[in-house]
Formats: sequence, structure tokens, C-alpha cells
Amino acid sequence: MDYYVMTLFPEMIENCLSESVIGRAAKNGIISINAVNIRDYSKDRHLHVDDYPYGGGAGMVMQPDPVYDCYSDIVSKAGKARRVIYLTPQGRKFTQAEAEAFSKEDSLIFLCGHYEGVDERVLEEIVTDNISIGDYVLTGGELPVMVMIDAISRLIPGVLGKMESAEYDSFQDGLLEYPQYTRPEEFHGKKVPEVLLSGHHGNIAKWRRLESIRRTYERRPDLLNDPAVLESFTREEREFLKELSEKDQ
Ligand code: SAM
Repeated sequence: MDYYVMTLFPEMIENCLSESVIGRAAKNGIISINAVNIRDYSKDRHLHVDDYPYGGGAGMVMQPDPVYDCYSDIVSKAGKARRVIYLTPQGRKFTQAEAEAFSKEDSLIFLCGHYEGVDERVLEEIVTDNISIGDYVLTGGELPVMVMIDAISRLIPGVLGKMESAEYDSFQDGLLEYPQYTRPEEFHGKKVPEVLLSGHHGNIAKWRRLESIRRTYERRPDLLNDPAVLESFTREEREFLKELSEKDQ
């Protein structure tokens, strides 16, 4: 996967994503992260890339030309990407399912906005996906793009040490993950659930699945409105969910 990030703050991207699991994946050549400075494409003497909004109002707007020239340069060097993502609070919400779909691409181009955003005309010309990381407004698209690159990259084979660690994560099967425990066996008087020490793989898998359902019911009941999730339940799991909701009434 080759990522190209059009940004006014390339150091933010480079510094943050050169660490930990994502940094290791980049060093191993599984992914490449190319932060491209939009300011390098300014034709202005003072390297301005923003101007006042037509019609008045507060703040500045990123001009279309430097963004378009930056995009064209990336495409001329690396070829076209099928998807060009603009990070915006006005986009559809980024989810694990979106991360899965993006992880299948060979390359992705991202555009980070700043100030009041980017001139609409260049967005219309280059952007295929408007994506938001949540219903709140940040100062720029850099943090959102880092969130996206992290979430997408860990689904690319070879990025995590063991693929299983992504397989059972929250949201992969539409549910939250079961609770996790490690040594010591007893902490502040609390013992690790007996079944996890039993070595019985079948019972452990069953316990985890039911705990996953319980946790989802308690913390994110909205996820259980998805018919596909409910259809994946066994009869016993449906009974378990019914018991949970009956207890609440
Ligand atoms: N005036 C814009 C609006 O109301 O929709 C908000 C602009 S925001 C201050 C500046 C930039 O931060 C945006 O262009 C976008 O790239 C990024 N941004 C802010 N919040 C975001 C979010 N929740 N998800 C993705 N990107 C976001």
C-alpha cells in the first residue's frame, strides 16, 4: 500500500507514523507513507496557499491551484489512485468496514484541509470519498488521516505480527471484543475467569463469544440492531441475548 498525503504539515505525518507498528511496516516496505507539502506548489511570492472566502465570513480558505498542482504531481509520479479521500467533518463516518475496504487498495491519496476548508471546485475535481472521523471539528485533516492510516494499515497482511490479532478485534464481526486478561492470575483480589485457565479451547471460544455479546449489549447496543449480526448468532447466543434484555426489564 502506498499512501500519499497532501498536507500543509508533512512533519506531523512523518513524525507520528514513523513509530511503533506502522513505522515498522514502513521500514519493512509493506506500506509507504509519502507526505507531500501543498505549500511547495504555491506560486505566491510568500508561499501563501489560502485566501479570504468569497461572500465574506470568518477564516481563510485553501486555494484550488496549489492543491490541484500537488495532486497532479503525485499522479504524474505515482500514477492515478482509484480513491482520493478528503478528510472533512462533512463526510460519511469512518468505520472498521470502511477501513477493510480501503485496505484492499494498492494506493490511496489523502487531502488534509486546514482553516475553513478547501475551495469546493478542486474538491469536485479530484475527490472520490469525503470521510469524517467523527461529529466534531478539528483544526486540520492531519490527525484524521493518521487515524485512518493506522486503522487501514493494521488490516494489511504482514503489518501485525499475527493476523489473528486483527481477526477478533472489536467490530470485525460486528461486535465489541471480549474482555482480555494476562498474568497475574489474581489482581487486587480479582481472579481471572476460571474457563480461561482450563486449556479447553471450545469452552474458551464459547465464553469469549458470549462475553463479546454481553459487552456489546452493555456498551454499544446500537450494534445489535444490524440484522447481519443477529443472523450470525446461534440459537444459544440468541437465548443469551434475550436473557440479558429480560434481566434489564
Ligand atoms: N469549516 C469546516 C466545516 O464546518 O465543515 C471545518 C473546517 S476544519 C476547521 C479544517 C479541516 O480539518 C477540514 O478541512 C478537514 O480537513 C479537517 N477536519 C476537521 N474535523 C474533521 C473530522 N471530524 N473528520 C475529518 N477531518 C476533519
